[in-house]
Amino acid sequence: MNNRIKGIHHITAIAGNAKKNFDFYTRVLGLRMVKKTVNFDDPHTYHFYYGDKVGTPGTILTFFPWEGIQTGRRGARQVTEIGYSVPEGSLGFWVKRLDENNVIYNKPSAKFGDEYVSFLDPDGLKFELTVPKRPDTREPWTIDEVAAENATRGFHHITITSNKMDATAKILTDVFGYKLLEQEVNRYRFVTDAVENAAIVDIVEIPAEIAGHVAGGSVHHVAFRVENEEVLMQYREKIVNMGLNITEKIDRNYFYSLYFREPGGVLFEIATDNPGFSVDEPVAELGNGLKLPAQYEAYRNEIEQSLPKLA
Ligand code: ZN
Repeated sequence: MNNRIKGIHHITAIAGNAKKNFDFYTRVLGLRMVKKTVNFDDPHTYHFYYGDKVGTPGTILTFFPWEGIQTGRRGARQVTEIGYSVPEGSLGFWVKRLDENNVIYNKPSAKFGDEYVSFLDPDGLKFELTVPKRPDTREPWTIDEVAAENATRGFHHITITSNKMDATAKILTDVFGYKLLEQEVNRYRFVTDAVENAAIVDIVEIPAEIAGHVAGGSVHHVAFRVENEEVLMQYREKIVNMGLNITEKIDRNYFYSLYFREPGGVLFEIATDNPGFSVDEPVAELGNGLKLPAQYEAYRNEIEQSLPKLA
C-alpha cells in the first residue's frame, strides 16, 4: 500500500457565469467535463469537474459557479496560480489560441528553467501552461481543436502566496513528505517523489502582501491525494498531532475527504483515489447528465429548472 501523499488530487475554485466557465474549460482549454453535479451545500448551484478522460487525480479542476458573485483578489494566504503541464513545442499553439479567444495572457517566460505562458480565465483566475524539463507522459484528453501534441496533461504545480512561509513549508515537508528542491528569488519549489506528476508546490514569500480575498476567480481550496480511506485517516491523526483542527471524514460521492486550514491560511483538503468518477455513470458518458447525491434526487425537476442553461 502506498501510504504517502501522492501530489495534488484536485483544485476547487469559484467562478461567476456557469456557461462562460463551461465554454472556456471544455472548448478553449479542451478539458473534459467529467462530472456535472450540484454544490452539496447549495443544490441550486452547479459543481463542475473538469479533467482527463476518467478524471484522474492530478488532472481535476472543479468550480462552483455563482452568477453575480463579486470578484476576488489574489493575495497572501491563497493559492494564487495553477500550473498545467503541456508538451514541448506547444506554447506557440497556446499563445495563438489564447489570443484568438481574447484571453488575457503574458508572452512566454521561464522559471526554474521551464518555459511557460501565464493567462487569466474569464473570472480572473490565474494559470500557467508549463513545459516541464522531463516530458509529462500522462495521456491527454483531446478535442478537435486541441490535439494530443498540444493538449494539457494535468497539473504541473500550484503556487501558494505567503507572508511567512515556515509553517506552511513545515506541513509540506514534515507531514506531506515534500522536499525543498530549489529556490529562485522568493519562490521556493517543493516536490514530492511519491508521484511523477502534479508533484510540485511552489511557495512565493512576500512579507508585505495583503491577504487575498476568496470570491469569483479565486481558488477555494487545494486537495492532496491519498490512495484510500485508511491512509486518509492516518493523515488525519498526523494533522491532529500537529495541533491543528481538521474535519471528520466527509463522503464527496467521488472521493472521501478531510479539510483543514494550514497555518499559513490556505484551506487544504486530503482526498482519496477511491471510488472515482465512474461510480455513478460509465466512463464514456462522464459529464453528460446532471448527477445528484441521493438526498436531492427527489427534488431533481425543481433543481434542474433552477440551474443556469449551458447550451
Ligand atoms: Zn475539494
